Amino acid sequence: MYLTQTLHRALQQGPDRPMTVFGDRVRTVAESADRVARLAGALRGLGVGSGDRVAILALNSDRYHEYLLATPWADAVLNPVNVRWSAAEIAYALEESDTRILLVDDTFVPMIPSLREKFPGLSTVVHLGDGAAPGGLLSYEELIASSDPIEDARRGGDELLGVYYTGGTTGTPKGVMLSHRNLFTSAIGSLATGTFHTPGGRLLHSAPMFHLADGASWASGQLVGATQVMVPSFTPTGVLEAVSREQITDALLVPTMIQLLVDHPDVPKFDLSSLKHVVYGASPISEAVLERARKTFPGAEFTQAYGMTELSPVATLLLPADHENPSLRRSAGRAAPHAEVRIVDPDDNEVPRHTVGEVVSRGDHVMLGYWNRPEETATALRGGWMHTGDGGYMDENGYVFVVDRIKDMIVSGGENVYSAEVENALAKHPSVAACAVIGVPDDRWGERVHAVVVLLDGLQADEAGLRDFCRDAIAGYKVPRSFEFAEALPMSGAGKILKRELRRQHWGEREQVN
Ligand code: ATP
Ligand code: MG
Repeated sequence: MYLTQTLHRALQQGPDRPMTVFGDRVRTVAESADRVARLAGALRGLGVGSGDRVAILALNSDRYHEYLLATPWADAVLNPVNVRWSAAEIAYALEESDTRILLVDDTFVPMIPSLREKFPGLSTVVHLGDGAAPGGLLSYEELIASSDPIEDARRGGDELLGVYYTGGTTGTPKGVMLSHRNLFTSAIGSLATGTFHTPGGRLLHSAPMFHLADGASWASGQLVGATQVMVPSFTPTGVLEAVSREQITDALLVPTMIQLLVDHPDVPKFDLSSLKHVVYGASPISEAVLERARKTFPGAEFTQAYGMTELSPVATLLLPADHENPSLRRSAGRAAPHAEVRIVDPDDNEVPRHTVGEVVSRGDHVMLGYWNRPEETATALRGGWMHTGDGGYMDENGYVFVVDRIKDMIVSGGENVYSAEVENALAKHPSVAACAVIGVPDDRWGERVHAVVVLLDGLQADEAGLRDFCRDAIAGYKVPRSFEFAEALPMSGAGKILKRELRRQHWGEREQVN
């Protein structure tokens, strides 16, 4: 169980097949393997020792793929940095993980002086680019050209593969320590469904590769011998163009990306028929957006993944066949082949079916722990189960329905309101592009259900109309009592709605009741 094994296998199966595609640059498996072995040699030459962390701060590219393989090949540990972080946050993460070497692309070169000032321990910065490296930085291409390839160091099994950061949706991102076994377990389990990724397919990376959702899809792609196609970052036209030009068969998309794609006026201009498998997840999707997505990509089968960085990341899967059953469309699916999943109460006792509790999961996909946070690790992993912090229930057939993050649940007049249910009702309104439902302070009810709504371009809706629309679908106490219209919702680097920012405007420094 070694990540680098995937490269050996690819070499045996077809050294001349394309391994990576980035813009006009196509590299074969043989070329890619040679570059990875040299980059590993270069890292060693730079003094990277066994278990040392190597960070990357870059948009998606074929070089990101090389980094993901060369680092474990050099017996070192991955530390991909969130490109949306400020210099102060990055410096903090590098210092906390004692990471002294960083690979950086052109986009982030201007941040280096400030990073170095904030974290003087950053001794080596490698420039992932063509041509001469900017002053004080080493050239990635020169390092690869001048280094000898090294034998695969065979880091694997339960050893640390990487420190991946959580999305930072609910607070400061936590560094999650994942082993090779963790990542492989989730990837192999997901692939065991037979509908996750196409063997030998062409897999698109438009979600950020620093985030484990895409990182895990990349690992699954490696296992099935996919050609990995990267676009630097997500734009709707970039994805539409890449799918048709590169004959993409597989893609991982998060709901916000899907929403931007399905609403895009250019969709009819592109032939998207090559797309066979779409995996989506990482945040809730509304039924309305999912329906539009299935119409936009009629040739594709959809799989929903639910999980978290701490679960490498997959815990449950809603399979293509499940999507045909309307009553399951709000479900996150059943436990993936590799995962045990339960719903428990605050005392960790399993609750009856259809009762909301906390989703917990156990298996070889559960993280080794949080980096440098032994107490939080012990709390999260108590009793041998990963506590997700997500509220959900399970039906009699084992389907899990995620209702809300426990921290996001709204208690209004003593009744629990789950924001996902309200958002789902609201998103069906023909004028609504996106929405977020939060609890805001209310003297009478404790908390009041409040909706922040983004309307589709050129369409209109007013409060009374939206309220009537919701009243047809959900109980009165769940219907938003107040609305606010916004141009866009605040998003994290991984494309998740930052409800804590929406809430802050209403709560200020006040504590939320629940
Ligand atoms: P942080 O832990 O730093 O607050 P985060 O929880 O967003 O950030 P991730 O590990 O990227 O970091 O995301 C995991 C969370 O995303 C889950 O706990 C869950 O709330 C949400 N999530 C993931 N997949 C789904 C899904 N299919 N449906 C609903 N929610 C999902
Ligand atoms: Mg989390």
